[in-house]
Amino acid sequence: MEVRVRYAPSPTGLQHIGGVRTALFNYFFARANGGKFILRVEDTDQERYSDESLQDLYDTLAWLGIKWDEGPLVGGPYGPYVQSERFDLYKKYAEQLVSDGKAYHCYCTEERLETLRAEQQAAKSEMQGYDRRCSNLTDEQRAEHESQGLRSVIRLKVPMEGKTTIHDVLMGDITRRNRDVSPDPVLLKSDGFPTYHLANVIDDHMMGITHIMRAQEWIPSGPLHILLYEAFGWDPPLYCHLPMVMGKDGQKLSKRHGSTSVRDFRLKGYLPEALMNYVSMVGWSYDGQREFFTKEELESVFTLEKINKAPGVFDYKKLDWFNGQYIRQKSDGELSSLLLPYLVEAGFVSLPLSEEQKEKFAALVPVVKERLKVLSDVVPLSSFLFEEPTYEDLSLFVAKGATPALALKALEGSYAILKKGLSEGKGSEEMEKEMVSLAEELGTKINGVFMPLRVALTGSLVSLPLFDSIYLLGQEKTFARIDTALALLRSEG
Ligand code: GLU
Ligand code: ZN
Repeated sequence: MEVRVRYAPSPTGLQHIGGVRTALFNYFFARANGGKFILRVEDTDQERYSDESLQDLYDTLAWLGIKWDEGPLVGGPYGPYVQSERFDLYKKYAEQLVSDGKAYHCYCTEERLETLRAEQQAAKSEMQGYDRRCSNLTDEQRAEHESQGLRSVIRLKVPMEGKTTIHDVLMGDITRRNRDVSPDPVLLKSDGFPTYHLANVIDDHMMGITHIMRAQEWIPSGPLHILLYEAFGWDPPLYCHLPMVMGKDGQKLSKRHGSTSVRDFRLKGYLPEALMNYVSMVGWSYDGQREFFTKEELESVFTLEKINKAPGVFDYKKLDWFNGQYIRQKSDGELSSLLLPYLVEAGFVSLPLSEEQKEKFAALVPVVKERLKVLSDVVPLSSFLFEEPTYEDLSLFVAKGATPALALKALEGSYAILKKGLSEGKGSEEMEKEMVSLAEELGTKINGVFMPLRVALTGSLVSLPLFDSIYLLGQEKTFARIDTALALLRSEG
C-alpha cells in the first residue's frame, strides 16, 4: 500500500512552529516510505480565513524547501485541494447520509437553540447540546418546514449506545462512549458550508490518505470522525496524534514564550536548515544521541516509532545554538549574501555596494561569522563600522570599580600603545599584553582599560573582539574616534 499523508492547515494565521513540525513529520514520513505528501487547504472557516495566511503557508514551505506532491498550485489526481473549491462534494455526501438514515435535516432556529442552551445551563442538566428534536421528523413535517422556507442544517445521528475506538499508532487505542459525543453535530451548515469534521473526513477518504499525523488537540474530535467513517461505510486511516509542542514551563507553546511564527524566525535570521533540523528534534529522536541531520537525511531515517509520547519542549536557546552551528558551516561567500540584506535594511549600505563597502564587508564577514546566533545580529555587531558613535552616555566609559579620571588615563595609555604598536607593526597579542601591564600600573582590572577603548571605538559595550574591531575600522578612524572620546572625557573631567 502506498503511503499517502497530508498537511491540512487552515489559513487563519501565520504558520506556527507546531504546525510546521506537523508538516515536517508528514513530509519526512512520506519520503522515508516512498509515499506521497499532500497539501490540503482547509479554508471552510471563511470568517477567519485570510489571503495573507495562505500566502504565508506557501512562503513558509518554500523557505523550508518542502515540496508537496499533490496540492494547490501543483494539482494532482484528487484535486481540487482547496476545500472551498469542493463544496458541492460535501453537500452531496451529506445528503447521501440523510438518504441512508445516518443524518437528518434540522430546522431549529438559532433562537430555539439559544433558549435550549440557556435552559440546559439553568437546569444544570446532564444532557448538554442539541436535543435531537428534528431527528425523527416525518416527510410531511419536513415538507411543511421547507414550504415555509425554513433553512436547515444537516446533523449526524450519533448512536446513543455503544463505544467508539480510535486506533492510534502512538497513543494506542482510545475509546469513548458514544453518549459522550456531543449530540448530533452539524455536518453541513444552513449556508451550504461544511463543518471542519465533514470536510476533513470526506477529503481524507477521497484523497486516499493512509495515515493521519496531526496535533494531539484533535484527539477529542477523533470519535466523531470515526463515527463519520462508519456512517459512510469507509475504513478510517491510521491515526498518529502528535504530542504537543510546549515551552519550558510546560505550557503549550505560545506568544508568551517568544516568537512562534516561522515568519518571525525567518526575519530574525534563522536558517531554514537549522530551524528544520531543530524542530524535527522536538518530540522525535533518531537514537537519543545524534542531533544533526540534513533534510535529505531526515527524508530517509524518519520513522513514526521514534516519535516521543511525551510533549516536546521547544527550547529557544537550543535553537540559537543550532542556528549558530549552521551559520558557521556556511562559506564566507554564502554568508555574505545572507547578511547583506540585513545591512541594507538597517540603512548601513545601499546597493550596488561601492568598492570600499565591498572590501569592508568582505573583511567583516569572517569576523562576525563566529559570533552570530541569528543573521540579524550582524546589525548591532557591525553598526560601529557604518555609523559614527555618539557617546551620549559617558558613564559607559567607566568600568565597574573605576572612576572617570581612571577611564581617561586608561584611554590615553591604550592610545599610546596602539599608536606605537601599529606604527611598528606589532601584533595584537603584544599590544594586548601591554594593555594588561597598563591596567596593573593603573591599579585596575583589564576591563578598566579595555572598556574605555571599546566604547571609544564602537560607542557600545557589546562588540566584536577589540583588535578585530580596530582592524576593521582602520587606523585613521580608530585614532580619530579615540581622539573624540578623549576630548569628551577631558571636558567632563
Ligand atoms: N485544518 C485542521 C487544522 O488546522 C486540520 C486538522 C487535521 O489535520 O485533521 O489543524
Ligand atoms: Zn432541529
